[in-house]
Amino acid sequence: KRVELDASKHQIDIGLVDERAIKVVNTLADAGYEAYIVGGAVRDLLLGRRPKDFDVATNATPEQVKGLFRRAFIIGRRFRIVHVVYGRGREHEVIEVSTFRALLTQDDAEQVKGNEKTSKDQLAGKSHVVDASGRVLRDNVWGPQIEDAARRDFTVNAMYYEPRQQIVVDYHGGFADARKKVLRIIGDAPTRYREDPVRILRAVRFAAKLGFTIEPKTRAPMVELSRLMSNVPISRMFDEMIKLLQTGHALATLDELQKQGLARGLFPVLDAVLDEKGALPDTTHGRFVKLALQDTDRRVEEGRSVAPSFMLACMLWREVQARWQKLQEQGEPAVQALQQAVDLVFDARVGDISGRGKLAADMREIWLMQPRFERRTGNGPQRLIEQPRYRAGFDFLALRAEAGEVPTALADWWEDYALGSDDERRALQDELR
Ligand code: ATP
Ligand code: MG
Repeated sequence: KRVELDASKHQIDIGLVDERAIKVVNTLADAGYEAYIVGGAVRDLLLGRRPKDFDVATNATPEQVKGLFRRAFIIGRRFRIVHVVYGRGREHEVIEVSTFRALLTQDDAEQVKGNEKTSKDQLAGKSHVVDASGRVLRDNVWGPQIEDAARRDFTVNAMYYEPRQQIVVDYHGGFADARKKVLRIIGDAPTRYREDPVRILRAVRFAAKLGFTIEPKTRAPMVELSRLMSNVPISRMFDEMIKLLQTGHALATLDELQKQGLARGLFPVLDAVLDEKGALPDTTHGRFVKLALQDTDRRVEEGRSVAPSFMLACMLWREVQARWQKLQEQGEPAVQALQQAVDLVFDARVGDISGRGKLAADMREIWLMQPRFERRTGNGPQRLIEQPRYRAGFDFLALRAEAGEVPTALADWWEDYALGSDDERRALQDELR
């Protein structure tokens, strides 16, 4: 049933709503379409938080949406949406507009056997497709709002906000769940996880981020069905891992993963750092990773940027370092040895994701700087601080020092050196003699 809540009930502070999102809704409404802010933004608004991004849902098709905005791009194949873009450069902002989707049962779908790769041709020209395990491969059939709500994941993620009349539309008791801080899946939990096993990770992520408890029926099938994630393309799993670790609640999320028994076996990168119980071990590397994640959480909190390459460089440091050293002992020159170590560790832990080359290159730069921090005489230090990526390399060194891997005095020296005048730099080098 459809419930409408007015401002006196939902008490959303409209000041937290992004002006561009309102503009998108108004443009669509003026053109005669239904349009609402939807999903995570409504959830965050109800919790009194400023949403980090805004999604809009409408009954206009992607083509109709695109026609209404100067800079709008239809993206996605599995799930077609429109990106409406405002501003440029660092200030630019994207409002995602999705068309209401129909709720389809498995019988409506054109079933395709096999995996993502073998089914590419079979997918051509079809708008709703699931694989043999029930996983949705394509989802582009439009429908009414009530069906759009039913196909969203959790009750708190399935509400619509109409900013003109300030009305929240709720079909699944999301408002009550938000007040109770309960994360509840919509519909039959096992079925919903089979359609998309990544929802299991989303449950963990939202529980950690929002401080919600996962409702028992939502929670019960999670561990058992987590094996279905082996069918999810590694690129999507990789993206999800980045979200788990880089949206400001990395440590809380690791705790929640451990609590649910899901910390190990899903992500090779995490398996590289966690102990058998799924916890960060009390070792130098365990402390190092913990400090890195804490630092990431702090940066997000302060609204600063975070780079996946930096965090991954921290997570994979121990393995890369071990192989790098070994190859050098076998007579391989340092740079080539690092390259080989990176390739080996990436094959084992990251796999064939898009952007792998760039990611590896950024991480290699951070790692290659580390031995250079040990050499402080001559003009090495001057050249090092002039590197464009010096800051990332230094931040990495500072974390190693904090974890007890290298002396704190070393990181302090570099901090002073980088900030110092020419005279101070000379003095710092003289002190080493
Ligand atoms: P965040 O604050 O992390 O962005 P969010 O709720 O906005 O949280 P998104 O991944 O941006 O999460 O998705 C937007 C909305 O789309 C969700 O709130 C939910 O309604 C719907 N959605 C996203 N992914 C799924 C999924 N795998 N299954 C069902 N619904 C989904
Ligand atoms: Mg979102």
